[in-house]
Amino acid sequence: MNRARTEVTQIAPEVLSRYEAVIGLEVHAQLETLTKAFCACSTNFGDPPNSNTCPVCLGLPGALPVLNKKALQLALRASLALNCKIQRRSRFARKNYFYPDLPKGYQISMYELPLATEGFLEITLEGETKRIGITRLHMEDDAGKSLHEGFPDSDRWSYIDFNRCGVPLIEIVSEPDLRTPAEAYAYLNTLKQILEYTEVSDCNMEEGSLRCDANVSVRLRGAPKFGTKAEVKNLNSFRYLSHALEFEIERQIGVLESGGAVTQETRLWNVTAGRTEPMRSKEFAHDYRYFPDPDLLPVAVLDHIVEEVRRIMPELPAARMARFVREYALTPYDAGVLTANRELADYFEAAVRAGAPPKTAANWIGVELLRRLNDLGKEIGDCPVSPGALAELLQQVESGNITAASGKKVFAAMFETSKSAAQIIAEEGFAQISDPGAIEAVARTVVAKSPDNVAKYRSGNEGVFKFFVGQVMRETRGQANPQLVNEVLKRVLSES
Ligand SMILES: [Zn+2]
Repeated sequence: MNRARTEVTQIAPEVLSRYEAVIGLEVHAQLETLTKAFCACSTNFGDPPNSNTCPVCLGLPGALPVLNKKALQLALRASLALNCKIQRRSRFARKNYFYPDLPKGYQISMYELPLATEGFLEITLEGETKRIGITRLHMEDDAGKSLHEGFPDSDRWSYIDFNRCGVPLIEIVSEPDLRTPAEAYAYLNTLKQILEYTEVSDCNMEEGSLRCDANVSVRLRGAPKFGTKAEVKNLNSFRYLSHALEFEIERQIGVLESGGAVTQETRLWNVTAGRTEPMRSKEFAHDYRYFPDPDLLPVAVLDHIVEEVRRIMPELPAARMARFVREYALTPYDAGVLTANRELADYFEAAVRAGAPPKTAANWIGVELLRRLNDLGKEIGDCPVSPGALAELLQQVESGNITAASGKKVFAAMFETSKSAAQIIAEEGFAQISDPGAIEAVARTVVAKSPDNVAKYRSGNEGVFKFFVGQVMRETRGQANPQLVNEVLKRVLSES
């Protein structure tokens, strides 16, 4: 057991509940461009180390950066999607610090004149909607990567890969409007969804395309002023974010309860130890000596550019959810499930276009399909059943060619074999049994086997009827037409 964790969880719930947390998030997202922010090098993830470099991103003397137009367009798109005011004039600055993975000796980042300000996004938690302010959104470039492990001589050497040097990022800084780890989680999730829908970033957290730092403080409920905050870095998964915030909030309450004061500092989430720890002071320097980058012109965003970005803005998640409710008569819950990610929403709409009834498709995708994908640990992009193939299956069910029960079996087989519904129905003999004679033969066998239940039914116990239906369905592998089964059984049971 980890000692620090045990210590903080010893705070009594009634003490914890006297405090509230104040949280703001700083999120870095890698823009989905083919080339880097200020040079023509590829941004492709996973290429051989140091293969995507040039004098500009290596910071060689005399090299001149040129802003990537696509990166600016994506940053503007994100700004509009997050309801920000776009600044007519913004400027890149040099943020000076030394680190081996930063060959220029400075990061290029918008500082005193950011690209956009005063935005917001809305989170929904347990049916309640809350607006979270966005202070600013600015552009910057990424540093390279230091590789401290994975090599035979990693105990003696660190390796550096400069491929990530100069990759375009946006940083989105929220207002300190979040009060709980759950709200922070919802904020990051909503932000990720918006950036994915707008194709601003692939938001792949494993590849580092979306990274998160948090500013956290606590205060007694109702206190007018914020407490002293700590910055927690390295929250690069939703799980880390939740755990680190829970830990940090309890830690700060513990400090205050024991009569101490929270230190303003930068802390790191230690994944292995499950706690936040102060960074060694030499690892962060507060004086970056920012100054305007003399090699880059200020960015002037004219109205017609903003209008053009607005015109080609993809449909945002909230709008798509509302449209699903309106256009396909789905419940808000189903619409929420289907629009949780853009690929799933696209899949659903493709199935509907291919002829699937919308409500049925929503049910099947939300339950059967997601469950099976989840079991296999797969994403919708790897789904072995195409939207067209699902539509075909649902039409077989709707038309009564197969029962819903058989449909689920056919669907399972489609998942495993990638064969079409028609093919599986023909091969496995799943077609619905609609011949009254055949159903009657089964019904008579079932009835003959259970004289006790027949007696109960005849003495007025209607409940046993379900037993007979179940038996007939079992004997016919769920393929008998349910309505016919009901009719035939009633007739057979009523005969004296
Ligand atoms: Zn380059």
